[in-house]
Amino acid sequence: MSETEYFNVADIFGENVFNDAVMQERLPKKTYKKLREVIEEGKELDPETADVVAHEMKEWAIEKGATHYTHWFQPLTGVTAEKHDSFITAPMPNGKVLMSFSGKELIKGEPDASSFPSGGLRATFEARGYTAWDCTSPAFVRQDAAGATLCIPTAFCSYTGEALDQKTPLLRSMEAINTQSLRLLKLFGNTTSKKVTPSVGPEQEYFIVDREKYLKRKDLIFTGRTLFGAMPPKGQEMDDHYFGIIRERIAAYMRDVNKELWKLGVSAKTQHNEVAPAQHELAPIYSEANVAVDHNQLVMETLKKVAGRHGLQCLLHEKPFAGVNGSGKHNNWSITTDDGINLLEPGKTPHENVQFLLVLTCILKAVDKHADLLRESAADVGNDHRLGANEAPPAIVSVYLGEQLQDVLSQLICTGEATHSLAGSKLETGVKTLPDFMKDATDRNRTSPFAFTGNKFEFRMVGSQDSIAQPNVVLNTIVAEAFSEACDELEKADDFDMAVHDLIKKYATEHQRIVFNGNGYSDEWVEEAERRGLPNIKSMVDAIPALNTEKAVSLFERFGVFTKAELDSRVEIEYETYAKEINIEAKAMIDIAGKQIIPAVIKYTTELATSAAAVKSVCDADISVQTELLAEVSDLLSETKVALAKLEEVTEKGGTMEEGRNQAVYYRDVVKTAMDALRAPVDKLEMLVDKDIWPMPSYGDLIFEV
Ligand code: ADP
Ligand code: MG
Repeated sequence: MSETEYFNVADIFGENVFNDAVMQERLPKKTYKKLREVIEEGKELDPETADVVAHEMKEWAIEKGATHYTHWFQPLTGVTAEKHDSFITAPMPNGKVLMSFSGKELIKGEPDASSFPSGGLRATFEARGYTAWDCTSPAFVRQDAAGATLCIPTAFCSYTGEALDQKTPLLRSMEAINTQSLRLLKLFGNTTSKKVTPSVGPEQEYFIVDREKYLKRKDLIFTGRTLFGAMPPKGQEMDDHYFGIIRERIAAYMRDVNKELWKLGVSAKTQHNEVAPAQHELAPIYSEANVAVDHNQLVMETLKKVAGRHGLQCLLHEKPFAGVNGSGKHNNWSITTDDGINLLEPGKTPHENVQFLLVLTCILKAVDKHADLLRESAADVGNDHRLGANEAPPAIVSVYLGEQLQDVLSQLICTGEATHSLAGSKLETGVKTLPDFMKDATDRNRTSPFAFTGNKFEFRMVGSQDSIAQPNVVLNTIVAEAFSEACDELEKADDFDMAVHDLIKKYATEHQRIVFNGNGYSDEWVEEAERRGLPNIKSMVDAIPALNTEKAVSLFERFGVFTKAELDSRVEIEYETYAKEINIEAKAMIDIAGKQIIPAVIKYTTELATSAAAVKSVCDADISVQTELLAEVSDLLSETKVALAKLEEVTEKGGTMEEGRNQAVYYRDVVKTAMDALRAPVDKLEMLVDKDIWPMPSYGDLIFEV
């Protein structure tokens, strides 16, 4: 570890970002003004302006040591992709080169896209994919041991304009919620707000383990999670890790992570130990949804990269260790106007309160109607170990409002009026006022998958290694739909006040089943939710069909977020991804069991037998302990061998199946079952076999000795 070097955060924050301050300083006034219009009003960028911007961006990047530029994009692989081009031009007659970067190169790229998942959207003969600059997310220079590169956040589309990435639908959904929110605000007499943007603050959980030990675990290397491993004598039952003192080695790592992130303009804010040993969390200050999505990718990338420098390994998988808490992401979401009004903030005036109640009940309606889509947006292969698998949060989508707000809604539903408040403050007549919400009065219910926390909703189902783009695409679009339907009603009403009042009551009544303020982890809730008819979708494979139901297609097409073809392609990609990932896990298990575990156990049984025979030959002592142990280990060994053979057989069959739903179902039902059957005897063996012989570090070594 290098010696501590102190720095002033304000000095380094954003130093590697081509942000507004840099643009203002370096761009000619006219160019700057035009670019701002493009960014703020979505106007088209003309070639001339693009050339000037590109030139200045290049000059700036070169000063930071950049030799290359890349269009940085987010294909449907879950991670980011980039292809690097250097700035050099062809050598001149004198043998020297110039550094150049044109407007065209800035705006549009054409990576060979044939190996990115497209779900059949793109035939190989037109394998071209295009990347287009998302100028609302600033370019940045990434500096590391590999050099410095100018990264340009881009959207990624096919030749015919279909989205092949996470970014494109996100930008479209932001457009949808902008339009519909402005419509709604206008009805309430707001004529000053010009733009409404969803704000997102994702809290990122992760595990840190020692890299040397990590390298001895092929399962972690190949799949990001342990495929074998017995529970250590101590788990997380003591609750002594959560918010505990951060050990120096980890603190030094976090400090470096923060420093890297701050340079990239990511406002890393909060860090703490999480519930499980070796588990931690990082949260930035919230930002506009598309920036937050980009920044979350940078956070994940930086967490992994910096860990290596500290001899550590960062595990972003949702469930690296069975029996130990998994990791997720809390997607905090709100909607804000350009002049600072948060639509999810309960107001101070009666008028604002009515607006707040309408927004709130619209969201209840949206979440209730599209619970399946929200659930799907949080599905990834790793998250299957959490959602619906006896871990937090449950696979049932419900909304937590807190006692006070719930009480107001109940009054509205019963009498059409809210006349008093639980907190005791006096309410004016009708729905006209809500008590002043003290933010902290909204009890922090940690078991709700979708909790109102004062001025934002916190969607807690998202997987830790997944992109947060999809959940936000869904949130933006379903709320846009609810707003749009409310506006349709209200725009034709004669008496606006009456109409709003009726609509709030109607939505609250019709969608109250989605509200649940109790313990979301209890069995009673599972039963209660079933009685209420709320979907409980227990696996990714079962969640996927939500993406292209008639309901989903009509929703997404109506707001121009996805076409049916795009949705179909995503369904296909998700099934493929599922089957592929389980296939990799199965193969890794086969490899580890066959090449590492069985040989080690055989070695151990040989040692046992030899030592028992030796003892016997010397003094004819009681060797029943050795023989019993030998028998037990041998039995488990043959159980392992049988289970391994079975897993080999079913995995091979899975590989020959046609890609699609059937294959994914097969991997879930047959291959995963065979994997579990192999793991069981191996974990028992781990408890019996001499630790020196066991071929890999244990759970205890990994999570308690970082
Ligand atoms: P916790 O939920 O752990 O108590 P906070 O509520 O303080 O933590 O914040 C969690 C995340 O929510 C942070 O990233 C924060 O910036 C973000 N956040 C706070 N307010 C909003 C908001 N209005 N809209 C979106 N995100 C927000
Ligand atoms: Mg939180």
